[in-house]
Amino acid sequence: MKGIIFVIDGMGDRPVKELGNKTPLENARTPNMDKMVKEGITGIMDTIRPGVRPGSDTAHLTLLGYDPYEVYTGRGPFEAAGVDVDVQPGDIAFRCNFSTADEDLTITDRRAGRIENRTDEISETINQMKIDDNVEVIFKESTGHRAVLVLRGEGLSDQITDADPKHEGNKPKTVKPLNDSQEAKYTADVVNQFVVKSYEMLKDHPVNLERIENGENPANIVLPRGVGAVPTVTPFEEKYGLKAACVAETGLIQGIGKLAGMDIIHIPGATGGITTDIDSVHKHIVDTISSDKYDFILVNVDGADEAGHDGDIFGKRDFIEKVDKIMGDLDKMDDIVLFVTADHSTPVGVMDHTGDPVPVFFKAPGLRVDDVKEYGERAAAKGGLCRIRGSDVIYMIRDLMNVIPKFGA
Ligand code: ZN
Ligand code: ZN
Repeated sequence: MKGIIFVIDGMGDRPVKELGNKTPLENARTPNMDKMVKEGITGIMDTIRPGVRPGSDTAHLTLLGYDPYEVYTGRGPFEAAGVDVDVQPGDIAFRCNFSTADEDLTITDRRAGRIENRTDEISETINQMKIDDNVEVIFKESTGHRAVLVLRGEGLSDQITDADPKHEGNKPKTVKPLNDSQEAKYTADVVNQFVVKSYEMLKDHPVNLERIENGENPANIVLPRGVGAVPTVTPFEEKYGLKAACVAETGLIQGIGKLAGMDIIHIPGATGGITTDIDSVHKHIVDTISSDKYDFILVNVDGADEAGHDGDIFGKRDFIEKVDKIMGDLDKMDDIVLFVTADHSTPVGVMDHTGDPVPVFFKAPGLRVDDVKEYGERAAAKGGLCRIRGSDVIYMIRDLMNVIPKFGA
């Protein structure tokens, strides 16, 4: 028996006028998920607790049985692990943007003309940076204008502010310590030096000289944010005795899988948006679940969240219909305990995450099937699971897999 948590990122929503006061999920044609719901058991879930607006990172940690209030220090460590930087507990990690600055360091384009190519060459240069003997600078490009920075050494702290000014026309923010410790002051100073040095090292970089010649904005400065100290995370297999894989589109979710010690299954052509290569996503999900290598698989498809952030009502609905096609193959599998959920709601009318509970269902042998016949936020609220929390899920899955130890005699 295999356990699967299948996350349709940001799928939860609120009634939308343009959809006849239905949610995108209620309005979508989802014959496969409706059939599984009919034969399964449904409910709604507060991923962290009622009213808490989860990030994708804190939500996924919770679903995997980690306490986000304990292991989550910021987004940086997970992003860094997601691009295969070999992070170690205590490292200070950031997510970064390649941006464009003019001579007095005013940011003129936070995304450096949405640079797509040769950021590896720029990263190679940044990796040569020396700030002082106590700290090692580890830098790696991610997708597009994104990158990660890891600072390694003694006496560092994550109790500092961001450098990213968030809006064009401003200079990088001076990073400040959040407490009086020597470590925080020192780290703030290191990051401030990093930002200025990144400009000095990149302004005449061959990649940038060529971009300028082509009329493109140069990637001549690096802006770190999302700082966190890399946490000590007990590996998933050690915690539960289950060999696990993570099939996800985005670096953030892959990073969570990686820090939890899971095998990461990369999906060529996956973008995390509604135009992702859904056939490739489909194939990699089904192949991983069908393989004998794993007892547990975390799946994440990201397009519904992106459409929610963009306020794209029909894009979100249509993407949910695409995901339903993947479910058709999972419905044919008998030896699985499948939990389908969203990690949080991303209502198209809000364009950000909200604390609304998300609709969930189990497909597994031996369920106490309820009367719910279709998959939707309000239909699921009438289901036999009632209202659960995200931290319950890893227990419920292992119970249905018949692998959880007895508590007591
Ligand atoms: Zn999410
Ligand atoms: Zn989101």
